[in-house]
Amino acid sequence: MELTPVTDLPEIRPGDDIATLVADRADLEAGDVLTVASTVVSKAEGRMADLEDYPVSGRAEEIANRLEGITGEEKDPRFAQAVLEESTELLIDAPFLLTETRFGHINVNAGIDRSNVPDHDILLLPKKPTESAERIRSGLEACGIEDIAVIVTDTCGRPFRHGQRGVALGWAGMSASRDWRGELDRDGHELGVTVQSVVDELASAANLVTGEGAGGTPAVVVRDWAFGDHAGSDELFRAVEDDLVRQALREWSFD
Ligand code: GDP
Ligand code: MN
Ligand code: MN
Ligand code: MN
Repeated sequence: MELTPVTDLPEIRPGDDIATLVADRADLEAGDVLTVASTVVSKAEGRMADLEDYPVSGRAEEIANRLEGITGEEKDPRFAQAVLEESTELLIDAPFLLTETRFGHINVNAGIDRSNVPDHDILLLPKKPTESAERIRSGLEACGIEDIAVIVTDTCGRPFRHGQRGVALGWAGMSASRDWRGELDRDGHELGVTVQSVVDELASAANLVTGEGAGGTPAVVVRDWAFGDHAGSDELFRAVEDDLVRQALREWSFD
């Protein structure tokens, strides 16, 4: 398996066609996986915003004041308002904001980014990253490049461990997971629970290549990786009924 960054991509602007920009610069072959950092997908989709766009609700004011009291750092209630507007549920409201986005991904500050955003205060995640991935995939097809799976990624923190890593937000042209259940291990025992989230694993591998700073390499071509002969599953984000950690968070509060 080989991962190669797409080089010489420009600063991405609203309306840019990522598929064409990549097709012009990368040597893509059928069966490759293309990962694209959500940062540039968001820029192309015009998801930049300014804090002045967010009139502050009472709840945002309350959240920001409480965070300021706890952390001793200045907190802009307009930022809290932006996080609330991008979210369907606030899971942790102190000492930081952890929310579920409208497309089911859980992240600190709804994944709103303040790095790599020229001329604007903040960058929101793509509205529907799976649709973004589908658009890039069909854009590549329109350039005559068939059968490329696309994963839209983001760098995201983890519970239980220090450090961030790449995760998949949306994907097209492949299943999210390899379902090993029913397959046998080396001792002939049937696997009962293993569903391997390959889109996340590919996103993490690609994140090693994109880096986090000024590298300018948001897109990575993954070659000679094969899904193999496994059942596929497209389930990635747990529903709350199926998520004991989230259920426990609903009962928990910081004080
Ligand atoms: P995120 O993980 O989606 O939040 O993206 P990052 O901010 O970590 O950036 C991932 C990579 O994309 C880094 O190599 C950045 O330098 C690069 N990058 C970010 N914006 C642009 C852009 O507009 N154009 C190019 N060419 N690279 C960008
Ligand atoms: Mn970023
Ligand atoms: Mn990000
Ligand atoms: Mn990143």
